[in-house]
Amino acid sequence: MGEGAAKSIAADLALPSVEPGWVWLIGAGPGDPGLITLLGAHALKSADVVVYDALVDPRILALAQPDAERVYAGKRGGKPSPIQRDISVKLIEFAGAGRRVVRLKGGDPFVFARGGEEALTLVEAGVPFRVVPGVTSGIGGLAYAGIPLTHRDTNASVTFVTGHAAGGDVPDGLDWTALARGAPVLVLYMALRHLGEIARRLIEGGRPPSEPVALVSQATTDRQVIVETTLAEAPAAAASVDPPAIVVVGEVVRLRQALDWQGAAAGRSLVPDPLGSRSRDEAV
Ligand code: SAH
Repeated sequence: MGEGAAKSIAADLALPSVEPGWVWLIGAGPGDPGLITLLGAHALKSADVVVYDALVDPRILALAQPDAERVYAGKRGGKPSPIQRDISVKLIEFAGAGRRVVRLKGGDPFVFARGGEEALTLVEAGVPFRVVPGVTSGIGGLAYAGIPLTHRDTNASVTFVTGHAAGGDVPDGLDWTALARGAPVLVLYMALRHLGEIARRLIEGGRPPSEPVALVSQATTDRQVIVETTLAEAPAAAASVDPPAIVVVGEVVRLRQALDWQGAAAGRSLVPDPLGSRSRDEAV
């Protein structure tokens, strides 16, 4: 599909562009550049300035006009990240100067991404803004791994959790015992470093050490690596994968044996009934 086709989609859907003096917070999706929304991609083309994070694919950034200013606002190589306040101040200054500002974030801007904080400072400063949701890694990454977030036979709820508190430790404000008891599927962001502690607390809370766990590293990119393991073994497995990674705990992980569509395309044979639910249905 050429650029003409993309243009006609924007026209067909009557997609709006960024107006001067506005800030749009846009989710870039988890990695694969095809997972940005049409609205996000279209809006990027109208930006004068793009303030972007570390995990955004260069091909997405290249959607902006060649002369658009690109401002990097992420952490890289252990260097300290610009202070959150500085980023917000920049957004306000750019908008105040009448520029069309895009703030581009990995995944979804409102999921563990400080998009809420940035939007609050825009409100305080009276800057008009819009939020364009993105595919969050905890959903899109699992889809690429062939792991559904819900399945009739395994879970009726999903819990998104950060494994990393603002201060860098395991979040103590979380009731891990309640999570162990009440959250059949846990989707953990930023959890590699503290996975030993997290697995320990979940097992103490009553989760079986044999419960399936998947580590989905660099999901939806060409570097994607998925490790299927158990709660007891997950901390050791975490040492062998690179960040960023999503950790998913729960019986749904078993469905990957049937639904690993990328693996199947590469020759993996799929197991049609990994939960044994078909025979159970027949028995009913
Ligand atoms: N706003 C982002 C999350 C930012 S927090 C979103 O909605 O996805 C950063 C964490 O997101 C990482 O530590 C990791 O847990 C997760 N993450 C982001 N991109 C990822 C990817 N491509 N693969 C796996 N995990 C990813």
